[in-house]
Amino acid sequence: MSKQTRRARLRTATAEAHVERAVSVVTGRPILIRCECPLGHDHTYAEWQERFGREAAEE
Ligand SMILES: [Zn+2]
Repeated sequence: MSKQTRRARLRTATAEAHVERAVSVVTGRPILIRCECPLGHDHTYAEWQERFGREAAEE
């Protein structure tokens, strides 16, 4: 029943810092998040989920 943030576990590789575009659940507006995931380039949260979300989502 733990609800940890999934991305905290994904520390496998060091990539260049870039920006992830997401949508705020509070305001519904686009927000930019500093990201250092292995994608290594600007991307959306959906894109990140495509790459890593499937595995990480499995509890
Ligand atoms: Zn990223």
